[in-house]
Amino acid sequence: MKGCKKTGIMGGTFNPIHNGHLILANTAYEMLGLDEVLFMPSGNSYMKKNVIATKKRIDMVRLAIEKYPWFALSLVETNRQGNSYTSETLQELTKENPDTCYYFIMGADALFQIEKWRQPETIFSFAKIVCAVRDDYDMNSIRQKGQQLSRLGADIIYLDMPKIEISSTDIRAKVKKHISIVEDVPVEVAEYIRREQLYYEED
Ligand code: ATP
Ligand code: MG
Repeated sequence: MKGCKKTGIMGGTFNPIHNGHLILANTAYEMLGLDEVLFMPSGNSYMKKNVIATKKRIDMVRLAIEKYPWFALSLVETNRQGNSYTSETLQELTKENPDTCYYFIMGADALFQIEKWRQPETIFSFAKIVCAVRDDYDMNSIRQKGQQLSRLGADIIYLDMPKIEISSTDIRAKVKKHISIVEDVPVEVAEYIRREQLYYEED
């Protein structure tokens, strides 16, 4: 759409939010000339175990994005009862904001899962997908996957950025072992985790 507002969506469990999420979102913001990026914590899924209270995940996102005026918190998925699906969220957002173009930002691990999400074709019809390298997925494998997904209508933008070796899983494991996470998360988030004593007891 011509002249549309360009809004990025950074969805995640954010258990906890970390610098990988922030760098990814900010790279998309800068490289694609987005107007804003919405951080959208997922609702609590019965399928994911050991996810801490939604309020705490939201608190940490709020703390992490506070100093970036072009980042905003979206509670569309956490406010919904039961499971929330990206396809429904995008449909809803587009209905409310018909002049906005959405860019759904993700790491390659999510791109390789997306066919298993509910109604991937609907997701592709309401948003462009913005994807960065992660874990063992390099740009070649991402492009190959992207070509396959384009047959389902996916319009994929490949973000050319160095790999960021940070994950929430590693952060939770570090906290449990009393290893500092100060390089992995904003200092306000590290402080929150310490104060609330999150992740120390995790299995
Ligand atoms: P967990 O280890 O609990 O799965 P995570 O670090 O993968 O946590 P999520 O909240 O699951 O974080 O991820 C949300 C989105 O951010 C996903 O699209 C994921 O691919 C992306 N992402 C997270 N960390 C990175 C990273 N280091 N590099 C690129 N993308 C990332
Ligand atoms: Mg993940």
